[in-house]
Parts: sequence; structure tokens; C-alpha cells
Amino acid sequence: MEHKKVVIIGSGPAGYTAAIYAGRANLSPVLYEGNQPGGQLTITTEVENYPGFAEGIDANELMDQMRQQAERFGTEMRTAVCIKSDLSQAPYHLWFDDDTEILADTVIIATGASAKYLGLDDEKKYMGQGVSACATCDGFFYRKKVVAVVGGGDTACEEANYLAGLASKVYLIVRKPYLRASKIMQDRVLNNPNIEVLFETNTLGLYGENGVEGAHLVHRKGEADEREYDLPIDGFFLAIGHKPNSDVFTPYVKTDSLGYIMTEDDSPRTGIPGVYAAGDVADPHYRQAIIAAASGAKAAMEAEKHLAGL
Ligand code: NDP
Repeated sequence: MEHKKVVIIGSGPAGYTAAIYAGRANLSPVLYEGNQPGGQLTITTEVENYPGFAEGIDANELMDQMRQQAERFGTEMRTAVCIKSDLSQAPYHLWFDDDTEILADTVIIATGASAKYLGLDDEKKYMGQGVSACATCDGFFYRKKVVAVVGGGDTACEEANYLAGLASKVYLIVRKPYLRASKIMQDRVLNNPNIEVLFETNTLGLYGENGVEGAHLVHRKGEADEREYDLPIDGFFLAIGHKPNSDVFTPYVKTDSLGYIMTEDDSPRTGIPGVYAAGDVADPHYRQAIIAAASGAKAAMEAEKHLAGL
């Protein structure tokens, strides 16, 4: 079976940065990009807070640059998704959805996180027919239409702003009486005449004959003045956070109650010698590209040290 020194799983800022560092250390890393090369950033628009780009940079361009930089130092890119792992002993055994297997002396888990859904049956029913978790992917289909975005964090505000440039009207459905997003993002939403924020509002379901035509909402659920009503919309966008993609590794690595991989002493070490976790899969707090990139660099440096000691 194929046997590599460094296998990196995931192609967000953490994975690519780990590959740049491992490549420059002459470790000939193999990086599995999964089914979303470039990771979560590729479904956003502009990145304004990644240092080095004073005017901001298109998210896809940023990830493409990272990818090319990793390739420049000898990273081999593969497109498969890791579906099973055996991290009980080194070399570690990994299985992929293209029916391949590999043994690795070190593994860098950089699988990121995936969008969460509310758990309504109607989300499944109307998936691709009015329900989306990616405004930048699907917003184009809602030009001059009415859409709703669910969530009160930075992602929801960013998506609402983006959609406000396309749609005729955007409702932001927020379950609390306030937004959790940063002040600057809140201001952009609250000052956008195309966005109406529906505070203290939850979604009960969706309706429509051929795709979404509206949402069943409830205002101030459980209060004396609780009110249920229907809101006509054409599109329903989820922006309520993410779930870490750690399931494949959880029999071996420790995770917190939400599934984030727990690492040791502010490092990417998982406690399994030679196995590291970097980026959002191990970061319940910050979830920023720059922080993911930094943890990827740390993971590669740890892998290099580990390999030198073997
Ligand atoms: P967050 O976890 O910050 O926010 C999730 C939002 O969804 C909250 O308002 C939460 O409500 C709401 N929510 C969660 N579950 C439900 C539910 N079942 N029903 C209704 N509402 C729900 O996630 P984000 O994706 O917004 O942000 C993640 C991280 O990424 C943050 O650190 C953020 O700052 C960062 N980020 C930064 C950006 C930037 O700088 N440009 C852009 C995007 C993200 P409640 O408040 O009630 O819990």
C-alpha cells in the first residue's frame, strides 16, 4: 500500500498552509482536497480581514493562491474525501471515497466545518428548490426576488448584505432580540434599506407548490403575545453556524460536546503522536482564515519535528 510521510486532509487555509510548510520542509505532502476545494471561504465573496491585502481579496482568488503556493513546494493534490480512519497505531491508515487507501506517518486533519440546518423536514423537501446554505453560490437565482436569511451572526449579516445587492427584499430572521454579529456587520445590515430584521422570530416550516413560496414564522414564541404568521419569500438561506467535520476521526481523537477536536496546550497536537488537527475542525472560538492558516503552519512544524525524531 502507498505509504507517505505527511498526509493532509482538507483544503481550507489550514490544509493549504500546512502543505506549504510541509512542502518547504521537503516532506512531499499529499493533500486530499475533499469535495469543496478551497474550503468554506470559497462560498463567501470578498475577504477583507486577511492581512496583506489592503483592499481585500476575492475569497476564491485567495484560496487559489494558497493552493498554487502549496503546489510550488511539491504538494501532491488529490480530490478524494476521507471516509474512514484507523489512528490506533502508526503508520496511520486512511480510506477514501475513490476506493483508495493510504498509510501515513503523520496526519494533519484540516477538514473544517459544514453549514448547519435548522432540522426542519421542509429544509430537505425544498433543498435546491429555494433552500440554500450559501448565498454566494445561489444568490444569483434570486435577482429581484424576496429572500430570507436565518441567523444573527457575522455570516448571516454578510449573506444578507450580499443578497440585498441582488434581491428586491431581504428579511433577516433572528431568534434573539439582538444580533450576535460584530458591530461593523450589524451597522451594515441595520443601515441597508433593502434588509428588514425580524427579531425574536423562529421558523416553523416552509410552504410552496413548486419550490419555496413562503415561510411559516412565529414571533416571540412562548410569550403572552406570541404570534404565528406566513411570510411570502422565494428563497430561504441558512446562516446559523457550522458543525466540525470530525466524525471520521472521532473514535480516536478527543472531541468536545459539539464535535470540535480537542488539542493539547494551544498546539495542534491531538494526543496521538504524529496526528494533528488544524483550522475550524479544532476551533470552536475564532473560526477565522488567518487563525486556521496559522494552526496549519504549526501542525506542519509539529509533523516535521515528529518525523525527525522517528
Ligand atoms: P455564529 O455561531 O457566530 O452565529 C450563528 C447565528 O445563528 C447566531 O445568531 C445564532 O443565534 C443563530 N442560530 C444558531 N442556531 C440557530 C437556530 N437553531 N435557529 C435560529 N438561529 C440559530 O456563526 P457565524 O457563522 O455567523 O460565524 C462564525 C464565526 O465566523 C464567528 O466567529 C464570526 O465572527 C466569523 N465570521 C467572520 C466574518 C468576517 O469577519 N467577515 C464573516 C463570517 C463569519 P444566537 O445568537 O441566538 O445563538
